[in-house]
Amino acid sequence: MFILSLLIGTALAVPSNWCGNKAPTSEHREAIQALRVAETAGISLHRRQSGNSSSTINVPVYITAVVNTTDSEEMLSETVLKSQFDVLSDRFAPYNITFTLKSTNRMIDDDNSKGFDYYGWNSFKAAQRKGDYGTLNLFYVTNMDDQTWGSGSCTLPGDASGGPLVTMLDGCTMNAYTVPGGVSGGKTYKGEITVHEVGHWFSLLHTFDGDNCTGPGDYIDDTPQEATWELNVCPIGRDSCPDQPGLDPITNYMDYAGEGW
Ligand SMILES: [Zn+2]
Repeated sequence: MFILSLLIGTALAVPSNWCGNKAPTSEHREAIQALRVAETAGISLHRRQSGNSSSTINVPVYITAVVNTTDSEEMLSETVLKSQFDVLSDRFAPYNITFTLKSTNRMIDDDNSKGFDYYGWNSFKAAQRKGDYGTLNLFYVTNMDDQTWGSGSCTLPGDASGGPLVTMLDGCTMNAYTVPGGVSGGKTYKGEITVHEVGHWFSLLHTFDGDNCTGPGDYIDDTPQEATWELNVCPIGRDSCPDQPGLDPITNYMDYAGEGW
């Protein structure tokens, strides 16, 4: 979605569109729709784990932090990374999705602390990544340009025809300030951006994807239609689709209000 241009009127220290995930492809939308209807074979997405609707999903997690040589020892310390993991676990727990933290790894690397700004980032990520396609790899970097890449992004489940490359590049890359207690632009973050991004990793779309009141929305039956979004605010009572049931789902993690409430 970072390709959307947005005029906000005032200069924001936070990115104008904090999630760096691109809009889902038409193939991805079709696959999600097929999944909703059938939840069985015939989908083209690369399944992360097998199971059924009554199963508890457990996801192994590896966290890699890359800091700059000028950063303090507190930046993305193991304690901080574990607190981020705890936020992630807490938010998904009501949905029978659990996570197991396998390891944290903190590296000092000026080049790779730039994340996607560094030309070698994908190679680094592929080399550091652990586990199979059902394993979640979270990367936190201190020096990525959020005006270009957002506060973070995850790979949506990919097309299985993409072969090993789909797994090699799978995972999430977030700016360091998004962890609990992280600060940027005078705002202290709560770790919710990782929750949002991991929602994408599980294939969830934005609640406002489609940007209209009559389309398929996010393909989730009980998500009210939402035609618009605002960043890090708490627009209680907003109803961008007044002719459709429900108010805008501003407390849904897949909305952009996220860190605002
Ligand atoms: Zn997003």
